Amino acid sequence: MNKRILITGGAGFLGSHLCERLLERGNEVLCVDNYFTGTRRNVEHLIGHPRFELMRHDVCFPLYVEVDEIYNLACPASPIHYQHDPVQTTKTSVHGAINMLGLAKRTNAKILQASTSEVYGDPEVHPQTEDYWGNVNPIGIRSCYDEGKRCAETLFFDYWRQHQLRIKVLRIFNTYGPRMHPNDGRVVSNFVMQALQNDNITIYGDGTQTRSFCYRDDLIEAMILLMQTDDKVTGPINVGNPNEFTIKELAELVIELTGSKSKIIYKDLPQDDPTQRKPDISIATRDLSWSPKVQLKEGLQKTIEYFETVIKAEVQENKI
Ligand code: NAD
Ligand code: UDP
Ligand code: UDP
Repeated sequence: MNKRILITGGAGFLGSHLCERLLERGNEVLCVDNYFTGTRRNVEHLIGHPRFELMRHDVCFPLYVEVDEIYNLACPASPIHYQHDPVQTTKTSVHGAINMLGLAKRTNAKILQASTSEVYGDPEVHPQTEDYWGNVNPIGIRSCYDEGKRCAETLFFDYWRQHQLRIKVLRIFNTYGPRMHPNDGRVVSNFVMQALQNDNITIYGDGTQTRSFCYRDDLIEAMILLMQTDDKVTGPINVGNPNEFTIKELAELVIELTGSKSKIIYKDLPQDDPTQRKPDISIATRDLSWSPKVQLKEGLQKTIEYFETVIKAEVQENKI
């Protein structure tokens, strides 16, 4: 029998790809989104598919549907968006988790949480392993996201201990690819959009801070593999690409791949910006037999092609 799968945040960057992959596998997909950062356009090619249903709903409110699996992705992910209405960000993570866990409890559905490397804050352990508790400022401008996601993890593990829910917690490290929001302020989308338009490339700080970039297809594969694991596997499991780059190296690579005339300029580093980030993926390799296949250069090339079409479409629209 087809599985009925709920994806919250399904009209976002990662959610829309997950909808596609799960439909391809023959499942019924219910995509729930309040369109805060996602758009109907991200899933418009799926509308009309006999096994796809789209629902506008805010996960801060209860949801009564019948499902077998829940992927809980609803939450703005880029600092600009999650800091725009920080109270709503915490509500989405915490009330959203409570409602989706309540739904999982009533329907006996398996439930996966899209958690984040931000639970490690500005890490003092490098690379980050799942048993590291993190170094998070509880009252800073990133806290609505970091602490919201940490509290959601706590709720997942308490529902598991208290109500024997079947939970899966995935800690996602920086992921990029086509269908990222062009103006969401994340580093890959910013640099590629700036380079394609020959605008200045804005490095925050001196560009020595590091990140590890995972291509979205690798991430989606790991997410589906985790959902399929034995009930004993709860996570948390790190998923990301362990190749680490400085932000300056990323800027230079984007300039090289686009052949751009952009100049690099330096701006202030935002408060609490983590200085380093790199996943230890030994547990993902052991439990999911997974490792990332797409390296940065190849993934960036695909992302650049996507943003070229976005810019062309914008030019066309403005002409009409
Ligand atoms: P995104 O902003 O494109 O997607 C989030 C989706 O959630 C959007 O469609 C948005 O409209 C929806 N949403 C937000 N608040 C909602 C609410 N209250 N009710 C219903 N829908 C709501 O971001 P993304 O990159 O696709 O991230 C998806 C998930 O993965 C998020 O939970 C994010 O925290 C997590 N994650 C992403 C990354 C990354 O690098 N992309 C890294 C770590 C964690
Ligand atoms: N909930 C939901 N859908 C359901 C079942 C529960 O949205 O199908 C919400 C419900 O509003 C509740 C929350 O999930 O506030 C937590 O549910 P739980 O059963 O854990 O707690 P309780 O109902 O006892 O508050
Ligand atoms: N960053 C940058 N220029 C930009 C956007 C981001 O130098 O135009 C930096 C940012 O300060 C951070 C890194 O790139 O050090 C990654 O930022 P992003 O917002 O993509 O993700 P996160 O900080 O959540 O990992």
